[in-house]
Amino acid sequence: MPSPIGSEKRQGDKPDLKNLTLAEMEAFLSRLGKEKYRARQIFKWLYRKGVDRFDDMTDLARSFREEIPDLARIGTLELTDSQTSRDGTKKFLFTLEDGLTVESVLIREKNHWTLCVSTQAGCRMGCRFCLTGQIGLKRNLCPGEIAGQATTLRFRIPEGPDIRNIVMMGMGEPLDNYENVLTAIKILTDDSGPAFSGRRITVSTCGLVPGIAPLSRDATVNLAVSLNAPDDETRTRLMPVNRKYPLKALLAACRAYEMPLRRRITFEYILMEGVNDSAEQAEKLARLLRGIRCKINLIPFNEFPGSEFRRPSENRIDAFRNTLIGHRYTAIVRASKGADILAACGQLSGKGDPAGTVLTPPPRSVRNGENDGKKEKEG
Ligand code: SAH
Ligand code: SF4
Repeated sequence: MPSPIGSEKRQGDKPDLKNLTLAEMEAFLSRLGKEKYRARQIFKWLYRKGVDRFDDMTDLARSFREEIPDLARIGTLELTDSQTSRDGTKKFLFTLEDGLTVESVLIREKNHWTLCVSTQAGCRMGCRFCLTGQIGLKRNLCPGEIAGQATTLRFRIPEGPDIRNIVMMGMGEPLDNYENVLTAIKILTDDSGPAFSGRRITVSTCGLVPGIAPLSRDATVNLAVSLNAPDDETRTRLMPVNRKYPLKALLAACRAYEMPLRRRITFEYILMEGVNDSAEQAEKLARLLRGIRCKINLIPFNEFPGSEFRRPSENRIDAFRNTLIGHRYTAIVRASKGADILAACGQLSGKGDPAGTVLTPPPRSVRNGENDGKKEKEG
């Protein structure tokens, strides 16, 4: 049984079925001499009905139900806190089995919700503008902990069935935890399980170049790249990763990223006053991205306690955007959501808020899986 990176402490324990794709679960059961189709049954209970106790999986043969807890387990991801921002954005705190905590953020769109999930507890990339980066890496999340943020919320909150998009833009650098992120994507997109559409999953990277080509080969998901500067000098100052993988290598990997027709790479660009927000820098950015099918998300810097940068004035933000539009780019200023509860980009610390609401158990109907099979709405 492969041990997911970062779960070394639990080696020797029974495998957590939530860390396995359907194919891996089938192989695991086959090795134990069990019927393969049991895996699909378990998958359905876990991800279609939100049931995570073997005892409650009533179509499993009684003898199997009695035996399986000695051979495997179902990990828990405890939803321990939630906060709602004035703009409706919600932040959820999950406590992992070893006591570490990570956050997910639920963002309201027109007809559905987007869930921003974490891929690591902390992050070791050290970007100077990011609160998560200042914590450092505590550990990689297991596949079940990454996918579980979405699959748990689906059954535990009223908005759950309307979560349509998943963005890996919470705590952590997804490509620094590649194997587990990929397994989580396989679980999330499995038609026998959560059945999220890969076209609605976005992986955001600070630019770990060696992970970009494998991602385009191994999964059909959207790519977002946190660019934040149009030249190596500025970018290295903001993002240490640029020393190892400078812009030339990063943009070459982006140009080679294979996408279905009409898909585009998203470049994220945090605007910081006096650092990367000048007219000249906007021109440089336009030249840099020439020929790449992309859109540019401009994110005015979100301040957090102790942050050293400032958000530029509205005029400067508009001017930067207009320069890009003048060069025929799609450039959007991303409204900062959830900033009052430190839920906006770069503000996640995994600490939750002591003043937040402690969640009560979900209503019975949800626990009993009455959301079963509810399809994502098209919007
Ligand atoms: N590690 C990945 C994904 C998580 S960071 C990455 O870097 O892409 C998610 C996004 O938040 C990135 O686009 C990052 O540039 C942005 N971000 C980080 N700190 C921020 C801040 N203080 N204000 C605004 N955006 C921030
Ligand atoms: Fe890590 Fe992304 Fe924050 Fe950089 S911006 S420190 S890569 S989470």
